[in-house]
Amino acid sequence: MKVTEVRSTALSVPLDRPMFVGNKSRVFSRFNPVVVQVMTDEGVNGFGIAFSEEDKRVKTLKAAVDEVGEVILGQDIFRWEEAWATLFEATGHMGHRGYGIYALSAIDSALWVIRAKALGMPLSRLLGGYRDEVPAYASHKLFRDWSLDELQKDAAALVGQGFRCVKMNMGDKPLAAEVERLRVVREAVGDDIDIMVDANWSWSVPQAVKIGRALEPYDVRWLEDPVASDDPEDLCRVASALAIPIAAGETFCTKYEFRGLLEKRAAHALIVDLQRVGGVTEWVKVAAMADAWKIPVASHLFDEFSAHLVAAVPNGFMVEYMPWWDVIYQEPPVVENGYMRITDAPGLGIELDPGALQRYRMQ
Ligand SMILES: [Mg+2]
Repeated sequence: MKVTEVRSTALSVPLDRPMFVGNKSRVFSRFNPVVVQVMTDEGVNGFGIAFSEEDKRVKTLKAAVDEVGEVILGQDIFRWEEAWATLFEATGHMGHRGYGIYALSAIDSALWVIRAKALGMPLSRLLGGYRDEVPAYASHKLFRDWSLDELQKDAAALVGQGFRCVKMNMGDKPLAAEVERLRVVREAVGDDIDIMVDANWSWSVPQAVKIGRALEPYDVRWLEDPVASDDPEDLCRVASALAIPIAAGETFCTKYEFRGLLEKRAAHALIVDLQRVGGVTEWVKVAAMADAWKIPVASHLFDEFSAHLVAAVPNGFMVEYMPWWDVIYQEPPVVENGYMRITDAPGLGIELDPGALQRYRMQ
């Protein structure tokens, strides 16, 4: 089975409510998935996603996908290491961070959907099949512009929807205000629900240590990306000073960058982003590397793929539920009683909605 065509479609999907994360410069009101559809000579097709946001730099991303896609025409579907190596070599001059790796990742992921469909099995089973349901945490509410009342109301609502773990955002407020926001969320969800805190690289090392210690009484499951630097040494300094576990990794690209994070034992849990790591091929390799240190891996975004990835590997910990572009699917991923379930459907078990692709298409 060989690749015959790589087709990309750039979309612009608005959020119901703009999203404020980390420091004040990060505000998102819409996301731009570039849908990458890969066709084969036997009629089995798959898709992957790369994305930008705020309708910016979308043409560049689409062009990167289109140009990188040319190198994979004629590729034997089941030679996945050969396919990945070809894509990696083709993106050398673009760079193995940013849009070069985004294009590679989306195409690599589409190829994995084709493989699973061709074998008639869900992707998670092809990749290891460790389990058929994975816990998912709510990551789509509780941002830094939520009022205290909104934090309490929405945190309680998420628990009412079945989530056993919720994430809240911090990073732009004085220590006392951040602690108060955590306190009200803890009060709203009770003692049996896990709370994660994501600081989106907002603090210096001393700030992270000081605020982290003040958060400790509220039983935080993990503190994510506490420091402005992604330097493993800085993360180690924070981790060694706190009782709260540290999670990091969403901006790390390829196994080569994760190697340093693991060797330094800079995080208690890895967050692996499908489009930055290098697609499905590289995601499972990083998970295997982490397993050698007995470090759990969680996903970043891309629920439609991430549920399969986290389900496939023995150290898969949790899926981040973030339904930014669910509207483009016929049957978007669902969380029931805090879990995402893998069905027997081949591939992802999720198909694109052609009408939605037309509706959200960028001109
Ligand atoms: Mg994060």
